Amino acid sequence: MAIEKLLIANRGEIALRIHRACHEMGIKTVAVHSTADADAMHVRLADEAICIGPPAAKDSYLNIAAIISAAEISGADAIHPGYGFLSENAKFAEIVEAHGLAFVGPKPEHIRTMGDKIEAKRTAGALGLPLVPGSDGAVSDVEEARAIADAAGYPVIIKAASGGGGRGMKVCTSPDQLETLMQQAGSEAKAAFGDATVYIEKYLGNPRHIEIQVFGDGNGNAIHLGERDCSLQRRHQKVLEEAPSPVLSQAERERIGGICAKAMADMGYRGAGTIEFLWENGEFYFIEMNTRLQVEHPVTEMITGLDLVREQIRVAEGKPLSVNQEDIRFTGHAIECRINAEDPKTFAPSPGTVTSYHVPGGMHVRVDSGLYQGYKVPPYYDSMIGKLIVYGRTREGAIMRLRRALEEYVIEGMKTTIPLHQALLKDPEFLNGDYTIKWLEEWLAREDGQ
Ligand code: ADP
Repeated sequence: MAIEKLLIANRGEIALRIHRACHEMGIKTVAVHSTADADAMHVRLADEAICIGPPAAKDSYLNIAAIISAAEISGADAIHPGYGFLSENAKFAEIVEAHGLAFVGPKPEHIRTMGDKIEAKRTAGALGLPLVPGSDGAVSDVEEARAIADAAGYPVIIKAASGGGGRGMKVCTSPDQLETLMQQAGSEAKAAFGDATVYIEKYLGNPRHIEIQVFGDGNGNAIHLGERDCSLQRRHQKVLEEAPSPVLSQAERERIGGICAKAMADMGYRGAGTIEFLWENGEFYFIEMNTRLQVEHPVTEMITGLDLVREQIRVAEGKPLSVNQEDIRFTGHAIECRINAEDPKTFAPSPGTVTSYHVPGGMHVRVDSGLYQGYKVPPYYDSMIGKLIVYGRTREGAIMRLRRALEEYVIEGMKTTIPLHQALLKDPEFLNGDYTIKWLEEWLAREDGQ
């Protein structure tokens, strides 16, 4: 089936990103938006725009009935969910397909499996992915928990099966705390996610976050597009991402990438996915799989030359992947900075009107953002207002280019995290690639103390 008109069920920079891929493929776009986003860049550029509700996401971007109606009214034949919002909602994917529309994403059953952390871990283990040692599924009995923690070795982490966004986790350092922490984790999980189920894993002290980009055609063929290092995080939110990781060799990349691609082929996975690992002392430990396009996908695009959204759309049309594993060459180095409308020191949100705007340009510089002069950043959504991505032949070259591009980037009318990135890019440990998932928070605490 050829997609002729695609509805973009998202907002912000990712909606614009999807619109751009569509127009480059000759596909018409339908923007659906809340009343707060009537002036968004992608809404202006799309072939058609339909208002689907008030600002609150639950009434607009999460309003399945309104989105499906918009698709029917506009005659769209496909829906791209972007990231966040409905992108990992298996029921939404089913409803889209039940209406005869192509869902630009994985098969609903795979979204469902990977959305349940215990089921995801079990599936990943069965597919041969390396796991964090720990319980084989849910744990409710304290004696059983003790045996598992003893076998894995302390410290352990108690995690909510339905958890997400880094919430619902407790680190336990000794056997005498186990019972209390399990009870606490269970009741907090029940309150936050409506499900008290918890499981136990060995707690890794100082890992990196390294994730593998995978792609499947849904018919048993799958490839990997290498890794992204997303260890620079604050409160489990990624701040800056790079590819390749400063610590992986080509042999290690091929090994873990090969395992992931084979797992996806065996699963019959369709579309883009990301398999997230913690990495410590040369070992990978699966933590979760995201069944969607990621915010940081552009760094992979920069080092492979592939357009991931185009690839997603092709697969949704039932076409094969446009490349084989042997065709993929990783060249150079790419880094992405997430630019948020936030105070760069306190991280307090700082929405406002863009009074002056200048985008950096030049060789190998990419800005994914819906900002323009006069645009009012609405206060209702995520504070990310853009992404600056650069490519260089070497990591050092990419860092120099990123510094230069950040110098040129002017966003006035609100505080942004540009100064944070500028400071980070001067730090000797960052320059050495010498950082783990704990590093940024420690660095921020040090900066704060100065
Ligand atoms: P969520 O779905 O809430 O994001 P994840 O399982 O992806 O949960 O874990 C989120 C973060 O919590 C990880 O990026 C890591 O920082 C930390 N974490 C999770 N599991 C472990 C573990 N076994 N050891 C150490 N840190 C962990």
